[in-house]
Amino acid sequence: MPLAPKFDLIIHGGTVIDGTKTPRFDADIGILEGFITAIGDLSMCEADAKMDATGKIVAAGFIDSHTHDDQAVLAQPDMTFKISQGVTTVITGNCGISIAPLHPGSPLPAPLNLLADVGSARFATFRSYLDALRRQPSAVNVAAMVGHTTLRVMTMSSLERAAESSEIGAMNALLEEALEAGAIGISTGTYYPPAAHASTQEVIDVCRPITGTGAVYVTHMRDEADNSMVSLEETFLIGRELDSPVVISHHKLQRAQNFGKSAITLPRIREAMQCQCVALDCYPYNASSTMLHRDPSRLQGRILIASSEPHPEQAGRDLDAIASEWQIDKTDAAARLQPASAIYFGMDEGDVQNILAFDETMIGSDGIPTGEKPHPRLWGTFPRILGHYSRDIGLFPLETAIWKMTGLTARNFKLVKRGTLRIGQHADVVVFNAATIRT
Ligand SMILES: [Zn+2]
Repeated sequence: MPLAPKFDLIIHGGTVIDGTKTPRFDADIGILEGFITAIGDLSMCEADAKMDATGKIVAAGFIDSHTHDDQAVLAQPDMTFKISQGVTTVITGNCGISIAPLHPGSPLPAPLNLLADVGSARFATFRSYLDALRRQPSAVNVAAMVGHTTLRVMTMSSLERAAESSEIGAMNALLEEALEAGAIGISTGTYYPPAAHASTQEVIDVCRPITGTGAVYVTHMRDEADNSMVSLEETFLIGRELDSPVVISHHKLQRAQNFGKSAITLPRIREAMQCQCVALDCYPYNASSTMLHRDPSRLQGRILIASSEPHPEQAGRDLDAIASEWQIDKTDAAARLQPASAIYFGMDEGDVQNILAFDETMIGSDGIPTGEKPHPRLWGTFPRILGHYSRDIGLFPLETAIWKMTGLTARNFKLVKRGTLRIGQHADVVVFNAATIRT
């Protein structure tokens, strides 16, 4: 009689949802040396440790497809705000901003300042950043991208214009170094002032080194309000010119006059998917969060201050209330609070649900891991999808919810041996109670 295999850990008695969108099944999971080595009835097998998952869901570890955790994985390596949600892998370097490469003396124009506290470590090369992570690994796996805005800050004397050819050449060299070191792609954030002057052609030219590598082009689009459709076309064009997969970050439609337009954007995205590789992510809230804008056109609707360097006491208060207390207008109050971050109540819940329910939408938190009063998406995105949107309002089955945060994401970002709970995969596993999980 052959000896029963021995495991480091057996998770027994649970119901497996494996991250492929296929129906759940009851099975034990055997883990050895960091990999899943058996799935089935392991009741006769020995293990150094056993975990009883009776009545619980056992799923592939969640992948946060959209984070700004570049610095947090070094500064807060326990990553409690992600691990506590079942997140085992984070994609960093989104919205054009990455913590590397940056010279020690490089300025951090907003929104780059959302990534790092003053005085935090700087990395002149992408490799030195990844080496620091390898020396001091965090509790989550990290798949890192390089940011176009960061490359602009590294190479351009002024950000108020499109890049010149010598600057594009310098950015190409930095991107090549990052890809060589292990970056999985490049992101842009042409929505934000430090990259808004970049033309479509600049983005194509800067990103050119990803062509043929399989690396992704990820974008916080130039416009997510009145000109969303124009920005979608720009995104698709860049993807076609680069012959590279594109990811539309945190797809949303801002401002009341654009509410309901997901009925137009989603069919266009699906149509584009027929001709090129397109993916998208979304967070489960109808309020956004980023730097506090200065532009009056971006200061419409209710705005809650999340942090302010000169006025930390104003965190948690509405901009309108602060402005009236100071007896100045909103734009002046926003200027006086800088540098600052804010929460914007500018989306329609119907659009949020349409986008989340779109079959190709990945779940990403877009959490900003700085300040004392962050947007709740930092801590709550994944339980909110599982508890509120899947269980309580039935937006999609649990199998679909988990696929959107595991298998789909691993596929789109080409994460090897992650995202599904199968034999031979890394043992990224999360166990939770589907009946009680909530934010
Ligand atoms: Zn963004």
